[in-house]
Amino acid sequence: MDERGREIEGGFVLVDGNRIVDVGSDATGIEADEIVRGGGKVLLPGFVNTHHHLYQALFRNVPGASDAKLFDWLVFLYERWKGLDEEAMRVASAVACSELLLSGATTTTDHCYVFPQDGGAILDADIEGARRAGIRFHPCRGSMSLSKKDGGLPPDSVVQTEDQILRDCERTIERYHDPEPMAMLRIALAPCSPFSVTHELMRETVALAEENGVLMHTHLAETRDEEAYCLRRFGVRPVDLMEDLGWLRDDVWFAHLVVLNQDDIDKLSAARVGMAHCPSSNMILGSGIAPVAKLKTTGVKIGLGVDGSASNDTSNMVREVRQAMLLQRVASGADALTAREVLRMATIGGACVLHREDEIGSIEPGKAADLIAFDLDDIAFAGAGADPVAAIVHCAADRVDLAMVNGVWRVRGGRLVDESIYELIPRHNEISRRLTSRDAH
Ligand SMILES: [Zn+2]
Repeated sequence: MDERGREIEGGFVLVDGNRIVDVGSDATGIEADEIVRGGGKVLLPGFVNTHHHLYQALFRNVPGASDAKLFDWLVFLYERWKGLDEEAMRVASAVACSELLLSGATTTTDHCYVFPQDGGAILDADIEGARRAGIRFHPCRGSMSLSKKDGGLPPDSVVQTEDQILRDCERTIERYHDPEPMAMLRIALAPCSPFSVTHELMRETVALAEENGVLMHTHLAETRDEEAYCLRRFGVRPVDLMEDLGWLRDDVWFAHLVVLNQDDIDKLSAARVGMAHCPSSNMILGSGIAPVAKLKTTGVKIGLGVDGSASNDTSNMVREVRQAMLLQRVASGADALTAREVLRMATIGGACVLHREDEIGSIEPGKAADLIAFDLDDIAFAGAGADPVAAIVHCAADRVDLAMVNGVWRVRGGRLVDESIYELIPRHNEISRRLTSRDAH
């Protein structure tokens, strides 16, 4: 995934500490403490997951939500999300991040925006869980301040005052944000959507992010309902609203960007915003098809995201890569998006969205040792050896054989190196049952 898109047959990668120090085709004479042979495998830079709600790993496949469109789905689930607490968040985060690692993501974001009033320190617990899994982490301090009483969708108990939100954004940045190269943890600021907080908070978020040099994120232009809502309530389309609020900028990335007209695309391109394309979520909620085949030739930086597990039901990154390719072909034909193009979106594309293209997203000397390998001897790839790279997307890749993050092995032989994570699953299921049961609400 370097500038030239080099593919090296029978090559090697030399890692020292947390960095790649050499890449080439002939390893003769190179000495190393540990040698991992890659025969029959394809080594790629780790995937970058640009949109998720990790807590939703507790809310998969919930009857009553599974077949609803976005606004109804939200109203139904908020009643269950309000039971979220620190332990639930910590467990969900460790489990979901581990599922991401097993499916090839070595960096993930988390748009964490549900902070129940008696839920405790949700984002801190989120970070604890991700650290346990060992993934490179970009938690986004989400926020909601408009509840039912203000005409919004969430119940009063899961929103915070804008004062609380801003103070906690500052605290979170100060305590956790690491601006240094190779950082394992960076914070972004992320109101849930332009209509779940006030316009003042959207503007103040920009000021706070600028002051602290952090990125900004939110959901945008996900559905036709949202477009109609913005036109009715604010008299403008979602992208125009973001322009008015000062959010069309290079240090912002938006999840979805499905419902766009040409004028929207021109504005997003000129501002060089980032995009988290979440095809499975868009399909499950029936939201539509984001115009990725068109956007890929513009200034918009495109990464992929699995989105929360309540609207995907998995945190499987490599499946999302395949889904992205397939969905564009449905809309725009067989040449709309190739395997290599979509792999670039999942790697260096996501790195650009997170402003980390100098550190992650490709296998080059000086970059972080974030590496994944798929085993082409697996039955899923039988007969597909003529193009091993495309096979990762065209065939039913599901799980990596190897994953290294920051020079540390996290997956070997298709299993998590830290076996204790598997022991969290029964607890995760218990919490999920408690939070989703009808009786509890
Ligand atoms: Zn989302």
